Amino acid sequence: LQALSELLGTLLRGHPHVALHLRGASSSLRPVGEGLADLVGNTPLIRIRSLSEQTGCEILAKAEFLNPGGSVKDRVALEIIQEALAKGRLAPGGLVTEGTVGSTGVSLAMCAAAYGCRAFIAMPDDAAVEKAQMLQALGAEVQRLRPVSITHPDHFVNVARRRAAEQPNAIFADQFENPANFRAHLKTGEEIWEQTRGRVDAFVSGAGTGGTIAGVSCYLKQRRPGVQVFLIDPPGSSLYNKVARGVMYTREEAEGKRLRHPFDTITEGIGINRLTQNFARAQVDGAFKGTDREAVEMAQYLLRNEGLFVGSSAAMNCVGAVKAARRLGPGHTIVTVLCDGGHRHLSKFHSPSYLAEHGLTPAATGTLLNFVA
Ligand code: PMP
Repeated sequence: LQALSELLGTLLRGHPHVALHLRGASSSLRPVGEGLADLVGNTPLIRIRSLSEQTGCEILAKAEFLNPGGSVKDRVALEIIQEALAKGRLAPGGLVTEGTVGSTGVSLAMCAAAYGCRAFIAMPDDAAVEKAQMLQALGAEVQRLRPVSITHPDHFVNVARRRAAEQPNAIFADQFENPANFRAHLKTGEEIWEQTRGRVDAFVSGAGTGGTIAGVSCYLKQRRPGVQVFLIDPPGSSLYNKVARGVMYTREEAEGKRLRHPFDTITEGIGINRLTQNFARAQVDGAFKGTDREAVEMAQYLLRNEGLFVGSSAAMNCVGAVKAARRLGPGHTIVTVLCDGGHRHLSKFHSPSYLAEHGLTPAATGTLLNFVA
């Protein structure tokens, strides 16, 4: 019997499909995880074939849309909540508050629930109504407020901060200034380092809070100082000026000057006009400006050539990766982030009628990247 099973084993190992299957099973499947927290992070790094072939570089992207909350923000929400629990500032039954219109609210609502806590999200009432409905469906308490200046006590961020201060066992997540955001992305950087086995020449990303670009740049440069880090900045944002000329505003100045209003750009989640504590930690070597048209065309390009359905910041990041490839020349490995999927962008970025109204209908693209300036 033993001889027979050895023979069978030898035959099976020689069979290419079985050999592949056995190898895959032992090396790439994750062991049993512990609930929601173990679904966050450790995202695949994928090679984007079309962009790589067209640029002569290896263009790799972190598939952050595979996080359980559908975006890169799950990492940040989890870190903020786990840290507050570990330090005793939050306990089960407690409340996590944030003022946000973005994906962070969704991530906080899910991660809070995973630890027996609740979430309170304040947002301006001109944000899409689906956003509030989605958060309510996730069990969060939502308050929609008339848009006012950040210096006004009724600004949604101030309302969220006050709500946490008013009661025991409550924290204000404060994603822009909270260093847990940056720390969460040291792990993102570590994953990129491990997944590329240290063969990474450049990292490219937009910045909203700056947590991603700060955490990843600090980790990668600590491993190899020669890794180049580039910012891609959308219209209306001043981060490009910060990197290029050192010009930056305080929160009050930025709001007072009305430097950015919601219609400056179609990209959501990236671009700001003030220096956040998280962006201040970023080690950036250079910056590119990206246009809305480039982001829209890139999203179509990725869908048609790769079957990748991504959100606006992810598309802009890929625009940045192409610009970085051109600056560095062929033969480099460039990593970027697919922050979220296209599903949350159906009313704007992926709406043919919205794009037509704003003169952004994408041209029928082939495989050429001639839409990237
Ligand atoms: N993409 C999306 C969809 C986001 O919500 C955010 C965060 N506001 C970003 C990108 C930017 O990431 P970070 O805050 O780490 O700079």
